[in-house]
Amino acid sequence: MKVCKFGGSSVADATQINKVCDIMMADRERRVVVVSAPGKRNKADIKVTDMLISCAERALEDLDVTKEIDAIVERFASIQRDLDLDNAIIDEIAQDLRTRVDSDKSDRGAFLDLLKAAGEDNSAKLVAVALRKRGAAALYVNPAKAGMLLEGEPGDATLCDVSYGFLHDSIERISWQPDNPIIVFPGFFGVNRDGKVATFPRGGSDITGAILAAAMKADCYENFTDVDTVYAVDPRVVPDVKHGISEMTYREMRELAYAGFGVFHDEAVMPAFRAGIPINIRNTNHPELPGTWVVPNRRVDTCKVVGIASDSDFVHVYVDKYMMNREVGFGRKLLQIFEEEGVAFEHMPTGIDNITLILRGSKFPPEVQVRVLQRIKKELQPDSLICERDHALIMVVGEGMQHTVGTAARATRALADAGVNIELINQDASEISIMFGVREAERAKAVQVLYHSFFAE
Ligand code: ASP
Repeated sequence: MKVCKFGGSSVADATQINKVCDIMMADRERRVVVVSAPGKRNKADIKVTDMLISCAERALEDLDVTKEIDAIVERFASIQRDLDLDNAIIDEIAQDLRTRVDSDKSDRGAFLDLLKAAGEDNSAKLVAVALRKRGAAALYVNPAKAGMLLEGEPGDATLCDVSYGFLHDSIERISWQPDNPIIVFPGFFGVNRDGKVATFPRGGSDITGAILAAAMKADCYENFTDVDTVYAVDPRVVPDVKHGISEMTYREMRELAYAGFGVFHDEAVMPAFRAGIPINIRNTNHPELPGTWVVPNRRVDTCKVVGIASDSDFVHVYVDKYMMNREVGFGRKLLQIFEEEGVAFEHMPTGIDNITLILRGSKFPPEVQVRVLQRIKKELQPDSLICERDHALIMVVGEGMQHTVGTAARATRALADAGVNIELINQDASEISIMFGVREAERAKAVQVLYHSFFAE
């Protein structure tokens, strides 16, 4: 069996939902469909999730949200009208939104999650109705009832491992019904141990799909989006990119997704990887195309570098102390400060007398920065302590690098020829990627010259 996931653009309007129904009904192996909230219908449009967040923020300030709720209901209603579905589904959605808005606001994070989850939840109900109208047996399944148990911070939840068993049993039970319905499952959220709705990070419907594929031991996880292939670089950075990736490994996908490949969520790789389920990223608008396969291993021949990703908003905290290499416990004490302040670090390249901690700017707000730097000065007495924001990271990724001489040389030559100053280079021991730190202002130029150096020639 196959688990399919359709992103926001695939359920943005009636035309797109019809394509989802066609795809699901074209292959009997497609038994579970995970859906996002309706996304943008055009560049100027607003995603339903963003509308829900604005609505929740107003509600938290005790402001009137009638207009906001009406606009969200209208997004669903326009789909219902165009698909000629029964009005009852819109009454149900409107009622659901009102109940959510009127619920307890004492826990801000929990309230925001409850509202955010309404996009996926109601999208799934609507898609189930649309499938039934098209003559398919289909059933909406509620993640809380099916056992999608989550833990952690609101908006950043992770799965409790016991969920795999719960989800497997619930879906199996429903599938045994005589009409063998397609299961329509909302992405992006589950429920925590207090029974409150909790969401994954943004873009988290990919994670739901991967979890269900793993729980069901699916033959394949089909992830439908709006591009024909995963490109070797982000088309937003290199608009003339032509090189699509037909196959890559989980490790390569994880590295690329980590560094800003928006097409697939980085946290969605792990559940599929652990269960050994191939991921096929495909286009809802061109389902006849093969898309990109993410698999455990691939034959590495000519294409040593599979892709180049980049991401912004990194902070470098540079700590230098003469004879640091002889000071037992220096690294531990430094990391302990970050741990005690609740800040995770991303990378930690070191020199003889220095350590640079690289952090995500969003996880290191200025007020925390002030506190952390004061503590480092006081507790570690470094000779020099520099904190710089607005850094970008670029990852050149490819399994084949392990066996190839000259990948780093080629990359550094391309950057040097373009006059890009490399602030930092890091190659981890697995040799699957080389990371370059550059100034944010140089990011696009750096990715462009690297792409042309590795792919265009
Ligand atoms: N709707 C959510 C978002 O916009 C989750 C998703 O689409 O995967 O982030």
